[in-house]
Amino acid sequence: MSRFHKWLFFRGAKRRNPSIFNHYEDLKRTENLSFEELKLLNENRLKEICKFAFKHSLFYKERFKNVGFDPDENWSIEEFKKIPFTQKSDLIRQNEEIHTPKELFKKRFFVETSGTSGEILTFFRDESWDSFNRAAIWRGYSWFGANPWDRKLYFWGYNSDFFKRLKLSMMDFTVNRFRLFDYESKKLKRLESKLGKVKIIEGYSSMIYELALLMEGKEVNFNQLKLVKGTSEKVFPHYQEIAKKVYGHKIVNEYGSTESGIIAFECPDGNMHINMEGVYVEQDPDDLGIVVTNLQSFSFPSIRYKLGDQIQLAPDSFRCSCGMQGPIIVEVTGRIGKKILGKHQSYPSLTLYYIFKNIYFNSQRKIDFQAHQFEKGKLEIWIKEPITEDLTNLILKESKKYFSDIDILLLENHDFRQQSGKLRDFISHLPF
Ligand SMILES: [Zn+2]
Repeated sequence: MSRFHKWLFFRGAKRRNPSIFNHYEDLKRTENLSFEELKLLNENRLKEICKFAFKHSLFYKERFKNVGFDPDENWSIEEFKKIPFTQKSDLIRQNEEIHTPKELFKKRFFVETSGTSGEILTFFRDESWDSFNRAAIWRGYSWFGANPWDRKLYFWGYNSDFFKRLKLSMMDFTVNRFRLFDYESKKLKRLESKLGKVKIIEGYSSMIYELALLMEGKEVNFNQLKLVKGTSEKVFPHYQEIAKKVYGHKIVNEYGSTESGIIAFECPDGNMHINMEGVYVEQDPDDLGIVVTNLQSFSFPSIRYKLGDQIQLAPDSFRCSCGMQGPIIVEVTGRIGKKILGKHQSYPSLTLYYIFKNIYFNSQRKIDFQAHQFEKGKLEIWIKEPITEDLTNLILKESKKYFSDIDILLLENHDFRQQSGKLRDFISHLPF
């Protein structure tokens, strides 16, 4: 079975991502470099992408010129640091000017990602960049003896996979406990036998946590499992406690974003190593926010990009016990996975993302919103635009599909976008 999946993986990768194998080999070779060697490689690649962006991206050419930075003439890290930060709004609004000409690439993939405000960023990712990103994940797997062709359980939204149907059921019951119990009585036995074959569990950490809660005491045998990987959300200590108990593994952090790629991957010794081959990381001293330059994104450069997360970096002198010398992100402090509390149930804050994403796709309405919870069973959704009857119906109708015991109050015209830092779609004011 696993040989078949390996064959499938190789066949698919050769067609879709022919450069993945070279990238993976390169990554395996460079992971053992010394700290100084990694720094050098990192800065050389930074120079390379800056030169490329200066030559081919109208947006960056202009930006660099405005501060007198010409990577061909006066390259230095000091000069580089004169470039103003790139914001997500730049990536969205200056999208065309940021893109480099498509003729420069054999193949590009169309990518779409939703921001916290419901605004959608789209761009083209060239084949090498896409393959590098997959190779970086593959390398992370390799640290745990796992492979990309291993059986996985995903907690995303819409990817198709061997576990698509299973996963969709999971999505359902993680947002609705009642359906969960129906599911349990009918199909849990089958689910249990499937789970016993899974080697990798990955996705939103709050959902991995929910699954663990569900499986607690069920005596599912997870002895095939090699890796439990959490992305996109903060992993709380109480998640780890139950993950270890149920899966026999802690949740390993993969830190990245669609536009920046894999920024860091946690090693078996528990430290998040920066992906030095793929990103140049700085920290904004004003707000401790991470600033990322993607070193692989030639089709859509993001240079000195303010991702919106706060991080804590380990001192340069710190060395991880695993032997790899890549610098360490101690913690991503700015991502919050708080729950929305109904009268009887709780819901992941991601539910809001699905509600507004559905509205966008079904009704082509981009709605800037921020939800606040001050009281259990009640949710205030702040909306920037004037609230009409039509808009109210649209939001309430979509919300009802997910929330069964929450009263929703829509409030008009709050200028929540003026806040500094990352715009969060949900803020809980409850103490728990
Ligand atoms: Zn390590």
